[in-house]
Amino acid sequence: MRKHIVAGNWKMNTTVPEGVELAKAVVAKSVEVPSDVELIIGTPFTHLYPVNEVVAGTRVALSAENCADHAKGAYTGEISVDMLTSVGCQYTILGHSERRQYYGETDEKLVEKTKLALAAGLKVILCVGENLEEREANKHFDVCKAQTVNVLKNFTAEDMKNVVIAYEPVWAIGTGKTATAEQAQEIHAFIRKTLADLFGAEVADQVSILYGGSCKPSNAKELFACPDIDGGLIGGAALKADDFIGIALSF
Ligand code: PEP
Repeated sequence: MRKHIVAGNWKMNTTVPEGVELAKAVVAKSVEVPSDVELIIGTPFTHLYPVNEVVAGTRVALSAENCADHAKGAYTGEISVDMLTSVGCQYTILGHSERRQYYGETDEKLVEKTKLALAAGLKVILCVGENLEEREANKHFDVCKAQTVNVLKNFTAEDMKNVVIAYEPVWAIGTGKTATAEQAQEIHAFIRKTLADLFGAEVADQVSILYGGSCKPSNAKELFACPDIDGGLIGGAALKADDFIGIALSF
């Protein structure tokens, strides 16, 4: 059975005190969620240490939103994987479309980041997804395949035990425009087939593939009912504990 996962991506939102309060609310409500659903909150770097104090020893796992593509040294402003594990991080999101779009994140950099993260014992939530122009030009399959293969061809079946994929169509992120369950399922099945071509069907069948893009309590049930959708990567709705937990209750 694949793991069901609901992961929050707070992006650049909340001050540290606000983030700590939000984490406390998520932990308090997490008791409502069946234990087979993994809950993860992804916070800005500044929040990781104090939020870890809140989530440590609970069922809520902690994620960063990015990491450096070097292990250590003269990289001003960057945060290394060892820094992340030292504050209790278990996951890092990598390749979010906002990082690809605004910060020049390339597949080559993502290979380096994924190597460092896995070697440090972090699990990786690797984001893939097409933009609107690519969807309208019917290139979404090619784009998702390239983003998946360019990074993951450098890893082994064993590594894939610690990799989660998030399919996030860029046109659905923060726009209120969700992919239909049919559109999402179609691409999720395609990504799983791409993983099967790389690692074999047995491995592909074990990898959780999350949907992201304006997911909320009102549409999560329909999305999560699809056979290849194993949960969600949640942006806006992760900033309200009720909505985040409401989504986690939608399996
Ligand atoms: C995201 O950025 O990962 C995301 C899915 O955002 P939203 O839920 O706000 O569309």
